[in-house]
Amino acid sequence: MNTVCQFCGNKNFTKKHVQYIYRRGGQILLFNNVPAEVCDYCGEEYFDSVNLKKIEHESEQILSSKKKSKRSIDVPVQEFTEIAQ
Ligand SMILES: [Zn+2]
Repeated sequence: MNTVCQFCGNKNFTKKHVQYIYRRGGQILLFNNVPAEVCDYCGEEYFDSVNLKKIEHESEQILSSKKKSKRSIDVPVQEFTEIAQ
C-alpha cells in the first residue's frame, strides 16, 4: 500500500491489526483489529481508504444511535492543569 512514510521517509512497513480511534466532536469510538501498515521506524499507521469508509459509516450509525456498539468501556479522564504546576 505504502512506499514511503509521509512523516519520516522510512520505506519499511509491517502489516498489523491495530486499534483505530474514531473522533467526532467530543465523541470517541474504538475499533479493534483494524488492518494497518505500520511504519517500522516512527510507528505511523496507514489504513486502507475502503476500511476508513467502513469505519466512518459504522461510526455514523452508532454515534447517531441507529445502531448499538458491541460493548462500551469506561475511560479515565484527567485535566492536565492539575498536574502542570
Ligand atoms: Zn515513519
